[in-house]
Amino acid sequence: MKALEDKIRAEGRALNADVLLVDSFLNHQIDVQLMKAVGEAFADHFNGKGITRIVTVESSGIAPAAMTALAMDLPLVVMKKQGSRILTDDVVQTTVQSFTKGTKYELTLKRHFIKPDDRVLLIDDFLASGEAAVGVHTLLSGLGVTLAGIGIVIEKAFQPGHQRLEAMGCDVYSLARVKRMDAGSIEFIEE
Ligand code: 5GP
Repeated sequence: MKALEDKIRAEGRALNADVLLVDSFLNHQIDVQLMKAVGEAFADHFNGKGITRIVTVESSGIAPAAMTALAMDLPLVVMKKQGSRILTDDVVQTTVQSFTKGTKYELTLKRHFIKPDDRVLLIDDFLASGEAAVGVHTLLSGLGVTLAGIGIVIEKAFQPGHQRLEAMGCDVYSLARVKRMDAGSIEFIEE
């Protein structure tokens, strides 16, 4: 998506070869016009694939996921990151390693927000090692629910997430795919 790549080139800052800061438009301040276009781009790709519900992981996935839900006229569920396990029957959890913080959290979902016959589309801001998406896949498959697609705003294609998810049979679609980066430059994979 050209407008997104232009924005990343103009305002993104590679902290090092592994972590990209985009807090002027995605992770702290949010460019809602760009997020609207992001939502429409995901809708263009995923419309017609029988999706019935959007999910994301708090908090940076919420803006692009909400815009996608709006563009596709579907309900949105935000999975929570909890520090510890919750021992009630209506909650499912799985442990996920946070890429940016290096800590672990319990990815948490109240089961009644997802229906057994749902076909779910996961939208997230970044794809790195794929830990968060694998966690979503684990929770949904434990409920017998299909993860029908994964939409990523910024994929770091040099990290293993995309391959890992495709090996699990997931349909991964990323709007910007970073090939490599360092403090001075960001290079994208041409689609
Ligand atoms: P994964 O679970 O694929 O390893 O990492 C995905 C999650 O980690 C994303 O939801 C995002 O919050 C965070 N993340 C991973 N890499 C980056 C990055 O380079 N920059 C930022 N801002 N967040 C990242």
